[in-house]
Amino acid sequence: MKQPAVFLDRDGTLMEDVGYIADPAHVRLYPGVSVALRRLKDAGFRLVIVTNQSGIGRGHFTVEQYESVHARLVELLGPGLLDATYFCPEHPDTATARRKPGAGMLREAAAEHGLDLSRSWMIGDREGDLLAGRAAGARAVLVLTGIGAEAEQRNAHFVAKDLADAVDFILRDSGAS
Ligand SMILES: [Mg+2]
Repeated sequence: MKQPAVFLDRDGTLMEDVGYIADPAHVRLYPGVSVALRRLKDAGFRLVIVTNQSGIGRGHFTVEQYESVHARLVELLGPGLLDATYFCPEHPDTATARRKPGAGMLREAAAEHGLDLSRSWMIGDREGDLLAGRAAGARAVLVLTGIGAEAEQRNAHFVAKDLADAVDFILRDSGAS
């Protein structure tokens, strides 16, 4: 049976958005993120990061640097939380459906991990996250921890102050709490 997932934006959603981050020492997880993700996991959601990393395509950092930042994030989150991570390294001028607001990474994850998009959610701090979630057939939650104030809130099924608030909403909706 296909599993529901929560797709997670990275910068401004799980950790501070410090611009083009190349150094793992600069990773700052938001408080409460690991606990909130554990609650989703325990309720049966797969957890998948989907992140645009145009800094690679723009030449600000390398794939290896991205990987080292990701490794630090996983270390801070703790073991056994993430099911998968998808990143889009392309420059924004490159035509690709993988880059959010395209739904490419979500669809790829759904195909590779047997995910039920209609029971899934996308959580992010930008317009592009909301649109990608909706385009994939999932529902979208906006968090205000990043640059979310700039997003069109009508594209969000719920506006949450932070990730823990978003998780509360999703679990209430799914009847899991
Ligand atoms: Mg973001």
